[in-house]
Amino acid sequence: MIQGLSPGALPDAAESPPIEQEEWRENLNVKLICKDCQEDPPNLYEDHASGDVECDTCGLVLTQRNIDVSSEWRTFSNDDQGGDDPSRVGDGPNALLNGAQLNTSIAFGDGGMRNKELHRAQNKSNLDKGNKQLLQAYKQIGALCDGWQLSSAVSETAKHLYKDAEESRLFKGKSNEALIAGCLFLACRRNSVPRSFREVMDLTKVTKKEIGRTFKLLESFLMNKDKEAKHKGAAVLAGGVVAFDEEYKGSGNANPSELCNRYCSILGMDQRTSNVAIALANRMTATGALAGRSPLSSAAACIFMAGHLMGQPKSPKEIQTVVNVSDSTIRHAYKLLFNEKEKLLTEEIRSRGVDVERLPKP
Ligand SMILES: [Zn+2]
Repeated sequence: MIQGLSPGALPDAAESPPIEQEEWRENLNVKLICKDCQEDPPNLYEDHASGDVECDTCGLVLTQRNIDVSSEWRTFSNDDQGGDDPSRVGDGPNALLNGAQLNTSIAFGDGGMRNKELHRAQNKSNLDKGNKQLLQAYKQIGALCDGWQLSSAVSETAKHLYKDAEESRLFKGKSNEALIAGCLFLACRRNSVPRSFREVMDLTKVTKKEIGRTFKLLESFLMNKDKEAKHKGAAVLAGGVVAFDEEYKGSGNANPSELCNRYCSILGMDQRTSNVAIALANRMTATGALAGRSPLSSAAACIFMAGHLMGQPKSPKEIQTVVNVSDSTIRHAYKLLFNEKEKLLTEEIRSRGVDVERLPKP
């Protein structure tokens, strides 16, 4: 066993230090030397063309197939400029932008007045105006999604929706902000993290009415697009190629059970209570209790009921601040739920430790 000792210390024979799992480290004491010449320091030569390491004294090949780690492009390092290497490796094409982005742009920097003029002339004739606008919109969508801490899946969906809508030119009359808000609203729904119109309004400062209108338009546009795609798909299928068959289903109304989880979490209720609220919401949808009520007020009523059932009651006032429906609406919806409670509270829900006696009379 090898012991690490500080200089001047004596090895302690009586008690050996506990063997600790040491961090892996490269052994830098291993040296590559020519086995014929045994020269130290070795006189080695790396042949990049063949990938060999040879002894420069006798010519023995020591290793083969070395990986060349130097840059694979030629660098014309501009000694006079001191700028960075003009590497010719860029990003892959971005599907969210138009074209393949393989265009040339004239650098502004060196080359005197001519270069500046060229740069300006190219900029003026730039056909990439559309891309600039798209980039601007993507930036806005990204910022909004960050503000809500939404996953990148949502922001990607919103960006794709925006691009499709922008290309269709159906939304010329709409303001850019409204279109972005509509895309964001739909993207949230499609990723099962729905937000209410009011929440989108608070974030984007676009009126509820405008968001709703844009959303309706977006949905009908996507439905039509899907029908066209299906037409094309059928034609392709006849040609013997597998069709791309993904139907766009209208997102319909927001599902109260999807809303429950998030609102319960904001209200600081535990997961068991939130699960009961979700189960109640699902049951409510199945039995048709509260049919015709808005998803928000239905969700609020389920949360109110679940809170009482699980001994973590929240007042309608507290729920109101989170869900954004008035407390009288919540009370009224709860009254309807309470009357249906025999149908709602299945054995499965009762087995989760709920106490029906705790429910307040509406
Ligand atoms: Zn040698």
